[in-house]
Amino acid sequence: MLELLRTGLRELGLDEGKAEQLAEFARLVLERNRVMNLTAITDEADFARLHLLDSAALLTVAPFDGRRVVDVGTGAGFPGVPLRILCPTIKLTLLDGTRKRVDFLREACDALGPDGVECVHARAEELAAERRETYDLAVSRAVAGLNVLCELCLPLVRVGGSFLAMKSTRSDGEQRDAARAVETLGGRIARVVDYAIPSSDVTHRVVVIEKTRPTPPKYPRPYGQIRKKPL
Ligand code: SAM
Repeated sequence: MLELLRTGLRELGLDEGKAEQLAEFARLVLERNRVMNLTAITDEADFARLHLLDSAALLTVAPFDGRRVVDVGTGAGFPGVPLRILCPTIKLTLLDGTRKRVDFLREACDALGPDGVECVHARAEELAAERRETYDLAVSRAVAGLNVLCELCLPLVRVGGSFLAMKSTRSDGEQRDAARAVETLGGRIARVVDYAIPSSDVTHRVVVIEKTRPTPPKYPRPYGQIRKKPL
C-alpha cells in the first residue's frame, strides 16, 4: 500500500511524506471494519486508490489551506481525514449521524493524529441551527443525491464559500435535477471537475457549488420533508 500511496501522492503533486500516516489510518479502519460496518472496500490496493487517493485528489480542485471545512456524512472519515492529514492547516469538522462511526473517528484521530479535529455526532440538517453559514467549505461523498445533499450542506457554508460534492462522472442527470435546489439555497454551480484517481482507470467528479447568497431561513427542513419533497 505504501508504494502505491507514494506514487499516487506524487502524481497529484502532494506530500509523499504523508503516505505512512495515511496507511496507518487505513490499518485502523480495516481493523475496526472486522467488528463494525465501516467500508465495503477491504482490499488494500483498492482502499488506497478508492478511499485515500480519491479523497486526496480533492486538494487539487480547490484551495484548502487554513479553511474551516465540514465533511458531511463522513462515515469512516472520507474525504475528511485524508484531507486533514495532507493539509494540516485545515480546521476540520467530521460530521456524521451514526454515533458508532463518530466514536471510531475520535479514537482514530487520538491514536494517529491529526490533532484538533472536531468529531460531531449530529445530522447535518440539525447542526445548521447552531452552525449556520460558518464554514468556508463543505465537502461530501456518497451521502445522498445532489438535490438532497445541497439542502444538507449549503446552509452550513458562508456566503463566498463553496460546497464540493464528490460524485460519479455519470451524474449529469443528478446535476440537472439539482438546479432548482442549488438556486433556491443560495448557490451556483461554478465548475464541474472530472479527475483521474492515480494508479487506476477510475475517473470521478467534483461539482463545485459556490455560495453566492444567504440560504433562506426556512431551509434546511426536517429530514423527512427533504427526502419526501426534495427541492
Ligand atoms: N463519506 C463517506 C465515504 O464516502 O466513504 C461515508 C459514506 S456513507 C455511504 C454515508 C454516511 O452519511 C453514513 O455514515 C451516514 O450515517 C451519513 N449520513 C447520512 N445522512 C446524514 C445526515 N443527514 N447528517 C449526517 N450524516 C448523514
